[in-house]
Amino acid sequence: ETPSSRSDKEKRSGDRIYKEACDVIAGGVSRNTVFRRPHPYYAASASGCYVTDIEGVSRIDFANNMASLIHGHAHPEINKAVTEQLQRGTAYTMATTPEIAFAQLLNKRIPSFEKIRFVNSGTEAVMTLIKAARAYTGREKIAKAEGAYHGSYDYAEVSQTSNPSNWGDPDQPNSVPVANATPQSVLDNVVVYPYNDLERTLAILDNHAGDIACVLVDPVPHRVGLFPGTQKFIAGLYDWTRENGALLAFDEVVTLRVNYGGAQADYPDKPDLTATGKIIGGGFPVGAVAGRSDVMRVLDPRESRLLFPHSGTFSANPVTMTAGYAAMSLFDEKAVERINDLAGMAVGQINEAVSVADVPVSVTGAGSMFRIHLKESSPESYREAYQPAEETALIKELLDYLYMQEQIMMINTCTCMLSTAITEDEIVRLSEAMLNGFRHIK
Ligand code: PLP
Repeated sequence: ETPSSRSDKEKRSGDRIYKEACDVIAGGVSRNTVFRRPHPYYAASASGCYVTDIEGVSRIDFANNMASLIHGHAHPEINKAVTEQLQRGTAYTMATTPEIAFAQLLNKRIPSFEKIRFVNSGTEAVMTLIKAARAYTGREKIAKAEGAYHGSYDYAEVSQTSNPSNWGDPDQPNSVPVANATPQSVLDNVVVYPYNDLERTLAILDNHAGDIACVLVDPVPHRVGLFPGTQKFIAGLYDWTRENGALLAFDEVVTLRVNYGGAQADYPDKPDLTATGKIIGGGFPVGAVAGRSDVMRVLDPRESRLLFPHSGTFSANPVTMTAGYAAMSLFDEKAVERINDLAGMAVGQINEAVSVADVPVSVTGAGSMFRIHLKESSPESYREAYQPAEETALIKELLDYLYMQEQIMMINTCTCMLSTAITEDEIVRLSEAMLNGFRHIK
């Protein structure tokens, strides 16, 4: 069977399934990340770093359910722990001890985590963080980076669709609404700053000093371009928040994987609050907000004046807590270092493929994450990393080629987020495939 006959067959059954899906699900999918034309890819099963589709074709998985599966698929130790918990029940109207054990593990691991609360997604973690910051400071506004993705809470999604037609003056990027569905009151309360441009950012923040509850920052923002915040930038934000009574809030929903102690371990100044998620769920839906004890007190029901009554039917679900505990225990310092080294090896080999194919391509990233840009030199800002429509079409062609012809699957921004299931063999396969892919789109 040739890859092209296989893809024809897959297209036929994929078309049929998608048609059925569209009859009952809005757009045929429950998350736009898996939507694609002419139809989504359909998974049948997965193990380690391989995922098998409904036609029985296995591919190397560099996407890992949007960076959430740090040990790849169906890890035996995580499965064992989860199976044992399943026998004991999946959710109770009671607190559980797995939640406490997992909180102890994470708070010990990450110095800025003095107190933690678990929720069900990264979106919910960012929402809870923002509400906690507002409750603590008594202020309404938040600041966030132009183009940055922080999930789908109204305030967090402002400017995530910024593009040249609406992003405005670089000295004061617009608070761009999402599909005109963001209320004006929300837009008025979100201050947008240009990532890694400290001078402009401080001037913008100064205009709202006294009103800002928190400056939200992702230390390696994927949608901005997947490059790390500079030491100068993060230190500048930290100092500004100290001087102006605001909180420094990190979004480490994706970046917790970068170091044993999260991406924040790379910076001397610690955030007051952090939102996280993805890998800490061990493959199950999760989020968490953690940080300074005095700030987290706004969530404490023992306080005489409860500022922020926070709950959630499935928050700290025992299955998730058990899976997360197993996954994060396995993701020890050696495991972190190993996949970071593998990512370094991949970036080196892809850069070689770029020279051999002689294409205008650059690679950015940090730790076990890297993103391929169809740009001659590595972008250093959201506006530099922005992909016009023709570039997005070429990226799609590259990703389709890798998927169909090379049996490689990536995140749709042409990003890889490695799991510990990956070995040097898969990295070599990736770089050979990239060389072919670059030649294909040249
Ligand atoms: N923050 C960042 C940086 C993310 O990348 C994401 C999801 O990709 C989120 C928040 C939202 O997380 P979730 O999809 O679990 O709601």
